[in-house]
Amino acid sequence: MTRTMDDVAKPNQPLSRFTTYRTGGPAQWLAEAESLDDLLRISETLRSHPMPTFVLGRGSNLVVSDAGIEGLVLILGSSFSGVAFQDPYVLTGGATPLPVLAREAVKAGRGGLEWYVGIPGSVGGAIRMNAGGHGSDTSAWLVDAQVFDLDSGTIRTETGATLGFSYRSSSLAASDVVVTATFASESVDPAVASAAMREVSVWRREHQPGGTFNAGSVFTNPPGDSAGRIIDAMGLKGLRIGTAHVSHKHANFIEADPNGRSQDIYDLVWEVQTRVSDLTAIELVPEIKFVGQFD
Ligand SMILES: Cc1cc2nc3c(=O)[nH]c(=O)nc-3n(C[C@H](O)[C@H](O)[C@H](O)COP(=O)(O)OP(=O)(O)OC[C@H]3O[C@@H](n4cnc5c(N)ncnc54)[C@H](O)[C@@H]3O)c2cc1C
Repeated sequence: MTRTMDDVAKPNQPLSRFTTYRTGGPAQWLAEAESLDDLLRISETLRSHPMPTFVLGRGSNLVVSDAGIEGLVLILGSSFSGVAFQDPYVLTGGATPLPVLAREAVKAGRGGLEWYVGIPGSVGGAIRMNAGGHGSDTSAWLVDAQVFDLDSGTIRTETGATLGFSYRSSSLAASDVVVTATFASESVDPAVASAAMREVSVWRREHQPGGTFNAGSVFTNPPGDSAGRIIDAMGLKGLRIGTAHVSHKHANFIEADPNGRSQDIYDLVWEVQTRVSDLTAIELVPEIKFVGQFD
């Protein structure tokens, strides 16, 4: 049955449940696409009723304003999630959680993506952010991605070479939605690769705050240095503004209290940045994205 815009988009929907910080206000409109038809319908509606758009993945790199987001927030539904194999390639959807991608690939004897196991984002978010860790990043393994352009309602193929990848960034525009992706892989022994994934998880548990409300690294690492080392050296672990504090476990993480406020996270990010730049002249650049209005 064809879905109408009323089926696809709902007004005034809370977003906090869609972010790892669990903070933030509602989306003016929240659309959940389950097919390319839905994306086409959303795109047509946006052309007749223009409004700002934001593509939300698993919300693990975001701080959504307490006032919410004006316009339309798009999420990809579960039909955009899945993993298939065409050796040596791993085919997956834009909404697939990265740990699922890593585990499914290993189960099928395909390796290379094990390091994704500790990153709680989606494939689309990882491509947009060129997510990386443990000596690798998305650009090293991505072969190509199908990208739906909400502005024009067209779909195109981008390759690793055309996505303008650099450290934690790509050239994708705000209107671009990654719907599927193909990754390279290598043959692995599933037992060996599973052990490697366990090591990644153990390392993360030991070095990063797990099970708390955060969005991973707050700042990108300045060339040749580590943001966490710099913030730690300034004694800022534990620094608190309202409901947000610099993690005691890893200085480049900011944790929020349950029922925290996005504004507190925002204020703390800029407080840390200002203190670091006043004392060291290093301008830390936020890796996390702020969406919507902040004071
Ligand atoms: C505990 C923890 C550990 C982390 N560790 C790492 C790490 O080691 N390395 C690292 O790089 N990151 C890390 N992160 C940050 C985050 O998980 C990654 O940046 C991830 O790739 C973001 O994916 P997401 O789906 O959550 O994107 P979101 O946070 O929802 O969005 C991030 C950006 O991606 C865009 N986007 C999302 N989905 C799509 C899509 N389908 N198409 C187009 N654009 C899209 C959004 O518009 C936004 O611009 C960590 C986060 C947490 C909470």
